[in-house]
Amino acid sequence: MPVTDNNIIIFGGGLAGLSAGYVLTMAGLGVKVFESDSVVGGLSKTITHDGYRFDLGGHRFFTKDRGLNDFVKGLMGEELISVLRKSKIYMRNKYLDYPLKPLNAIFGLGISTTIEILLTYAAEKIKNLIRKPQNISLEDWVVSNFGRKMFNIYFKEYSEKVWGIDCGRISAEWVAQRIRGLSLAIAVKNAFFKLTAKDVPSLVDVFLYPKLGIGRISERLKEHIEAGNNIVLTDSGIERINHSNFKIDSVVINSHGRFVTEKAVEFISSIPITNLLKMLHPPPPENILVTASQLKFRDLVIVAVMINRKRVTDQTWIYIPEQKIPFGRIHEPTNWSEKMAPEGRSILVAEFFSFKGDRIWNKSDEDLISITVENLENLGFIKKDEVVDSVVLRVPNAYPLFEVGYKEKCDEIYKYLDRFKNLHITGRSGMFRYYNMDHAIGSGINTAKKIIKKMQDTRFGRGVEETSCMI
Ligand SMILES: Cc1cc2nc3c(=O)[nH]c(=O)nc-3n(C[C@H](O)[C@H](O)[C@H](O)COP(=O)(O)OP(=O)(O)OC[C@H]3O[C@@H](n4cnc5c(N)ncnc54)[C@H](O)[C@@H]3O)c2cc1C
Repeated sequence: MPVTDNNIIIFGGGLAGLSAGYVLTMAGLGVKVFESDSVVGGLSKTITHDGYRFDLGGHRFFTKDRGLNDFVKGLMGEELISVLRKSKIYMRNKYLDYPLKPLNAIFGLGISTTIEILLTYAAEKIKNLIRKPQNISLEDWVVSNFGRKMFNIYFKEYSEKVWGIDCGRISAEWVAQRIRGLSLAIAVKNAFFKLTAKDVPSLVDVFLYPKLGIGRISERLKEHIEAGNNIVLTDSGIERINHSNFKIDSVVINSHGRFVTEKAVEFISSIPITNLLKMLHPPPPENILVTASQLKFRDLVIVAVMINRKRVTDQTWIYIPEQKIPFGRIHEPTNWSEKMAPEGRSILVAEFFSFKGDRIWNKSDEDLISITVENLENLGFIKKDEVVDSVVLRVPNAYPLFEVGYKEKCDEIYKYLDRFKNLHITGRSGMFRYYNMDHAIGSGINTAKKIIKKMQDTRFGRGVEETSCMI
């Protein structure tokens, strides 16, 4: 593809990058997507292994945005199935329904604990009436919204397991940004304080899922980009970004071990913002690099075990807050779609929240598999001799980590990057935002629309068509 006036390069072939590429392709623009992994999809990819399929932690598609819903439905057509959500939380050696139901929660936790929950909740409500709460951390926010007891018995353990840091260090702004997704919080509030589940998207009972795994959405986007004579290259990581006067001139790509330089007029980045800054050549000022080094991601280790049985559970997810069990969540992909394993077999996927280089991350695959199997056996799900195969994956940058003060750091970095005339950041790790898939797709689409408008305005893109997929 020759470099022309309307050429755009996209860093990263996850949902955000590919959605941007799709919209630009539909608008008749020239696009090249570079993805460092061997497949597209990023965090929303589906792994295939000897007839088994699994996501990096079960990914359900759900959105309140009708335009995005139509976009995904139009893209996937017959491939989408509706899945009934069924999940449980393992608390105090019992499996409670999730979302918690009042009676189930009361019997599960015991009457005295329930009374304590309600009393500490009432105490907080009275305190809040007298003095407006100063919610700086997740702990402040949860205590003032749910009471101290609920924080202690549920939130503290699970949140610290997910985030790997003390709840007093997790930013309350994250809760505000994530309120819709803090489904466990809403579940608890529903169970004890009678909110209506209808208002809360995380509690919907049915969600959409592609029969062959969530990664199919990215694969469909790739197919459309390529059908429009544009390019999606895997095993091709951005290594260096050459710029002058806050304008990017070219990028150096390591494509299958060969270094190539590519030019374009506009550049979209959906790769982790911290990595992007390190690739800029010349480098950003020292203060920006220092600030970026203080933004961290939580990483993830996934262990999938293949089971010689048709089904192990009837659940979509099981949440495991207890610290003594090393993983935080499991899911059984065959309960999402029966096509996720060969006939008569199933698969369980455990998520270990981790930091790159920590005790879990550095364990050998053999150790991780043996810990997983042992715990699944102790929890009563499987017998060791039913395990026929296993896969371990280490997933860097799975969750942006929202420590107190992260927002000011992001603002400083956004302000610096905003000075680049032809660089657009998008997506979850690209923006350091807690995006779900719908937000990632939406942010890619919006970035593409912005570029189309810019090209129309500057007359660069004479002939740029209004695309029918615009939402
Ligand atoms: C465990 C887990 C469960 C989740 N469950 C759900 C769910 O149920 N529902 C939901 O809606 N959302 C869920 N999400 C969120 C969802 O995964 C993300 O919102 C979405 O995948 C983000 O897409 P993205 O394109 O913004 O980012 P990413 O998927 O991170 O894409 C960035 C891409 O850039 C690539 N890249 C990185 N560096 C380079 C480089 N140097 N050069 C080229 N490419 C590079 C990466 O390989 C990746 O493909 C979940 C996330 C996790 C971690």
